[in-house]
Amino acid sequence: MYKLIDGKAHSARLRGEIKLRAEKFTEKSGRKIGLAVVLVGDNPASQVYVRNKIKACEETGIKSFANFLPESATQAQVEELVKSLVNDANVDGILVQLPLPAHLDEKAIMSLIPVEKDVDGFSEQNMGRLCLNEKCLVACTPNGVMQMLRAEGIEIRGKNAVVIGRSNIVGKPMAMLLLNADATVTVCHSKTANLKEICRSADILVAAIGRAKFVTADMVKDGAVVVDVGINRNSEGKLCGDVDFEDVKCRCSYITPVPGGVGPMTITMLLYNTVCAAERSL
Ligand code: NAP
Repeated sequence: MYKLIDGKAHSARLRGEIKLRAEKFTEKSGRKIGLAVVLVGDNPASQVYVRNKIKACEETGIKSFANFLPESATQAQVEELVKSLVNDANVDGILVQLPLPAHLDEKAIMSLIPVEKDVDGFSEQNMGRLCLNEKCLVACTPNGVMQMLRAEGIEIRGKNAVVIGRSNIVGKPMAMLLLNADATVTVCHSKTANLKEICRSADILVAAIGRAKFVTADMVKDGAVVVDVGINRNSEGKLCGDVDFEDVKCRCSYITPVPGGVGPMTITMLLYNTVCAAERSL
C-alpha cells in the first residue's frame, strides 16, 4: 500500500514554524522581515503567482513590498527598481517574477540581486554554492521536495535517485540536493537513451518534465518513492502532473499527488528562504 505525501500538510506545518521565526526576528530587530516582489507586465499566470506569494507573506507575518511595472518598462527602469530594493534595509529578500517581457535582459537584471537577498536561489553564486555543498539559498521547488522527503523519514543516503528533467530551476538543483544527501543520482532529459530502464532502477524517482502523465507504471520500480513536480492541464483543463498517478500509485511506497503535493511547498520554501536570509542579516 502506498503512502500519499501530503504537501498541504507539510506546508502548513512549515508555515507555522516560519511564523514563529518571523515573530522572533521582529522581537530582536524591531522590524518585520521583508520580501520584495517585482512583476513586470501583465502575464496572467505571473499575476496569480505574485498574488499568492503576497498572501502567503501576510499569513506568516512577513511584510511584502509589491512592485508592479508596466509591460513597456525599460531595462533602466527595472534595473533602477531592483537596485533601490537591494539598498533597502527593510527588504531581506528580492524576487523578480519570471519570465520577464522579451525586450528585457533577464540575466542582467537577475545579476543585480545580491546572493544574500536571492531568495529564489537562482543566482550563479547560490547555484555554485549548492554544487559545492556549501550553505546557500536553495531553489524553492527542489528544496520543498527535500523537506517533504526528510519529514516523511525517507532514507536518501545510498539510494538510487533518478531525476527526469535538467532545468536550472528544478532538475539540476534537485539532482544536486539528492547528491549532497548521498544518493547516487542519474539525471535524464529528452535525449536520454533507455529512459524506461533507468527510471526502473530508481528508489527515488523525481519527474520534472512538463508532460502530462508521462511516467507510467512500467517505468517505476516496486516500492519506489515517486515525486511529481509537473503542473500540466489535461484535455479537460484539469490540473495533472507528469506522473500517471492512477497507473503508478500501486507500485510506490510513497507518491506525491498533483495538485496537493510539491506545489504547496514551493511558496512555503520562498518564505522559508526569506526568513533564513533575514536571520543571517542580524
Ligand atoms: P523545463 O524547463 O521545460 O524542463 C523540462 C525538462 O524535461 C527538460 O530538461 C527536458 O529535456 C525534459 N524533457 C522534456 N521531454 C522529455 C522527454 N520526452 N523525456 C525525457 N525528458 C524530457 O521545465 P521545468 O521548469 O523544469 O518544469 C518542469 C515541470 O515542473 C513543469 O510541468 C512545470 O510546470 C513544473 N513546475 C512545478 C513547480 C511547482 O511548484 N510544483 C515549480 C516549477 C516547475 P531537455 O533539457 O533535453 O529539453
